Amino acid sequence: MVDASRLGTHQGQLGPICDFCGARLTFGQSIPIDSKYACFECYQKETGATPSSEPKSVDGLPID
Ligand SMILES: [Zn+2]
Repeated sequence: MVDASRLGTHQGQLGPICDFCGARLTFGQSIPIDSKYACFECYQKETGATPSSEPKSVDGLPID
């Protein structure tokens, strides 16, 4: 069960607050890290994870 004191409303929905930057989130936007909630940006900072859709520059491709 989520601690109600850590909840805020965002976009008309009750949801968690990012424990790292304080942003109000919906449950759909929040990403749990251990017992904390993080927004997507903070999740990436905390875990070092990058989205697989992130464009990468690839060196060494032959371009004529
Ligand atoms: Zn955050």
